[in-house]
Amino acid sequence: MNVILLGPPGAGKGTQSQLIAQKHTIPQLSTGDMLRAAVSAGTPVGLKAKKIMADGGLVPDDVVVGIISERIAEPDCVRGFILDGFPRTLPQASSLDRLLTSKGLKLDRVIELKVDDMALADRVEKRARETLAAGGTVRPDDNADALKTRLMAYYRETSPLIGYYYAHGLLKSVDGMAPIADVTRQIDEILA
Ligand code: AMP
Repeated sequence: MNVILLGPPGAGKGTQSQLIAQKHTIPQLSTGDMLRAAVSAGTPVGLKAKKIMADGGLVPDDVVVGIISERIAEPDCVRGFILDGFPRTLPQASSLDRLLTSKGLKLDRVIELKVDDMALADRVEKRARETLAAGGTVRPDDNADALKTRLMAYYRETSPLIGYYYAHGLLKSVDGMAPIADVTRQIDEILA
């Protein structure tokens, strides 16, 4: 099963992807997590991405497409995967189509988490507070300025994907404002 989770920052893509990944024993492929790992490791990709990410911008398409293309080729993806945070632009979506076609694969579903804009800042703030309380390090882009840029990037670059996948007959939307367990239930019904 190959699934994409789509939604603005703070919509709950990470939380829900993890739950789907556990339930269906397929990996969660988060480009954000992979890029953060690259930044921590100081790899050439990490060095390129560090400032862009901290500012809330989008890392160039060729960089993320390269990362995903390598990751999808790994053995744990043979039974499928959940894409969390990728694709984020129309060119990324086209590259993904080409990549999957070349491997004889296809997307099964694209699930959009619909969330009220006004709730996103609160959610991101809460994530930062909880991370601090747990003794962790707050993401450099979980602050008001970067969130504004991330939201603008979402509406300008990523939201056109909703129409793209609707046109391909793949899109299903769920109410991302519902409690976590209810969102999971809605997703389960779609993937059943
Ligand atoms: P996320 O963890 O999904 O919120 O991603 C954190 C940051 O990583 C984003 O704000 C971007 O700077 C970068 N990023 C993650 N995925 C992508 C992508 N598919 N395309 C471009 N930039 C990305």
